Parts: sequence; structure tokens; C-alpha cells
Amino acid sequence: MKFGTKTLHGYNMLAPDTGASSISICQASTFHQKDINNLQKYIYSRFGNPTREALEEAIASLEEGKYGVAFASGVAAISAVLLMFSKGDHIVMCKDVYGGTFQLVSETLPRFGIEVTFVDETNLEEWESAIQPNTKAFYIETPSNPTLKITDIQGVVEIAKRHNILTAIDNTFMTPQYQKPLTLGVDIVIQSATKFLNGHSDVILGAVIVNDETLFERLHKQQVMLGGLPGIEECWLVMRGLKTMAIRMEKSTNSALKIAQLLEKHPKINKVYYPGLESHQGYEIHKKQATSGGAVLSFDLGNAENVKKFADALKYPIIAVSLGGVESILSYPIKMSHASVPEEERLKQGITEGLVRLSVGIEDTDDLINDIQNALNNI
Ligand SMILES: *Cc1c(COP(=O)(O)O)cnc(C)c1O
Repeated sequence: MKFGTKTLHGYNMLAPDTGASSISICQASTFHQKDINNLQKYIYSRFGNPTREALEEAIASLEEGKYGVAFASGVAAISAVLLMFSKGDHIVMCKDVYGGTFQLVSETLPRFGIEVTFVDETNLEEWESAIQPNTKAFYIETPSNPTLKITDIQGVVEIAKRHNILTAIDNTFMTPQYQKPLTLGVDIVIQSATKFLNGHSDVILGAVIVNDETLFERLHKQQVMLGGLPGIEECWLVMRGLKTMAIRMEKSTNSALKIAQLLEKHPKINKVYYPGLESHQGYEIHKKQATSGGAVLSFDLGNAENVKKFADALKYPIIAVSLGGVESILSYPIKMSHASVPEEERLKQGITEGLVRLSVGIEDTDDLINDIQNALNNI
């Protein structure tokens, strides 16, 4: 079954009790037990809820995984994964990690005695040389945000397996449509379903997908004990979003490539970051592990004044934090995702005051291109 069919038929899409064309919203916190001595399958919605389980099954199937565990947000999913580790454990992590993950790792994990070393994710030797006797996990995010650096997933997995280390990946940017880390040997896949999976900028939700039963049991326990659960209606909305994901992504990624190619040649653009361009530093590795450059690109307009003129002149993209919606979204990393990163550190990562990130939506491609060209003329 191809991915586009899988988004509709790779899991149980119909309500099992009625045959309704969508899973029912089981909006209940608790369940009547017919026999007080023998509890039924569903007891209390924090422990299990049929709507949430239907979503977990759907997301797992798209990621080619056996088990899915849904959380209240991408960050709740990441917390549940990282808080499986204990005092004295060590994690090696990519340097250009999502801002919320960075905060969690630098402010919360140290209080629990969990140590993290950041490495240049593009350099496999750094991953290997960061290993300590107590290293328990490698944490990957590829492409990274906002300069879309590429980590060699299989390269990192190979090192991890040799040292008996778990691997986890944040697969939000590529989505399972274009990158399936479980099939490349990664143990734990994390999704911020807030982005492309839901796709409509109206839900916050996260998920973790695994193949190993023991890992699933540990994560399910985290879900029940830490309690960062998604609302039932949110679960249903993400399932609805999944049904159109394949065509949304196809449209967005086709437009993103065209826009990246145009910007690359444009005299007013200093630099374009898009892993679907041959000029991108990680192009060859990305091509090996993913089947599209994705729907997100970043480019450098030179300075803050140009950014202001460009943003003011744009008609269609909304100016906002986030990505992965049906509408195009322009973000400004130095004022948004990376506002709290010290200047020296962010400049090292290429996050200049001229850098903007565009998440390409499903608007007409020509309209988007014309809009961007007009806005550039305004500089
Ligand atoms: C948005 C995002 C997250 C966090 O997801 P939330 O649903 O906002 O908690 C994590 N990782 C990446 C790559 C993201 O883009």
C-alpha cells in the first residue's frame, strides 16, 4: 500500500461499533463497569480511550511502527521520552535542536541528574567521540531548524548499535511521508502532530512511535503517570487531518522546491537553505534517507530592514511561529524560535538578522511565487 492510500486505509478508519465513516469522539473521562469485580478494557480515559487509541494506531501505521503513544503536545512527547532516563545517564544530542527541547534539556534534565552533550550533528565522528560509559541515548533531529542541517540517520544508528545505545529522532519536519526512521533502524520516533500531521494550524498534539514492546510499555507508563494527554477532540481532529496529508504535502513540497530554486537565483537573496537543492550541504545524505526536500525552507535577506520590508509586502503567508499548516507561514527566527539564544551562538548556527523561514502551504504555486517576487521587489 502506497503512503497516500495508507493515510486512509492503513489503519481502522471506520467506527467499529456503527460503521460510521469516522471514528467516534468518545468524550468521556470514565466508563461504567458492568461487573464491579472484573473491570472492562476501558476504565478511565487517562489509562485508555478508544478515540485516542485510534489515533495512536493511525500514526503508528504511517511511521511503519507497531505502537503509537499520543501526548498533549510535541514537547510533552519529547519530555516523556527524555524523562525515561535516570540520574547518572548521559544523552548525546544534535546541536541545532528544537528550542523547546533545548530548554527542557538545559533547565529540567540537569535537576534530575541527566547529562547531555551537544554535538555538530553533521559530523559522525563527533557523535562517536561524545560517547561515555553512561551514554544511554542519541537524539537526532533532521532536517534541523531553521537552517535544515542534515544528520546521517543510518550513520548515527550504526554507531549507536555498536555501543548499545538507544536512538530517538524528532521526525516532524519530514513527516513519515518522506522519511521513515524506524525502517532505518531508529528506536524511537517523535512527531509534533501540531504541524504537518494535523496540518491546519488548529491543534497542539504530539506522538511517539516505536516497534519494541518494552519501549512501548515504558512510554505508555509515562503517558499515564506524567499525564500529558491530548484532548479527545484534538485526537479526532488530527485523524481528520491525516486523511488529506498526502495531497497537502505533495502540493506544499512541490511549491517549496520551486520557490527554493527561484530564490537561489535571486540577486537579493544571500543564501537559501533547502535540503532539496543540490547546493545544500547535506543534499546527498538527505537524498539517501528521505524522498523530498520537504515544505520548509529558510533564506537570508541580508539584514533586519529587508526582512521588515519583505514581511510587510507579503500578501499570503501569515507571519507566525509554527509550520506545517495549509496556509504558508513566515517565521523570523531571531525574534521567535531563537530569541533566547545568545547572539554569538545563533550567528555560529547561521541565524542572522536577515534569516527568515517559510513553511509553504497549499495556496496556488504561481500566486505564492508572484507574492514572494513582489515582496522582494519591495526591498
Ligand atoms: C513544533 C515542534 C516541536 C514542538 O511541538 P509542540 O506540538 O509545539 O509541542 C518539536 N519539534 C519540532 C521539530 C517542532 O517543529
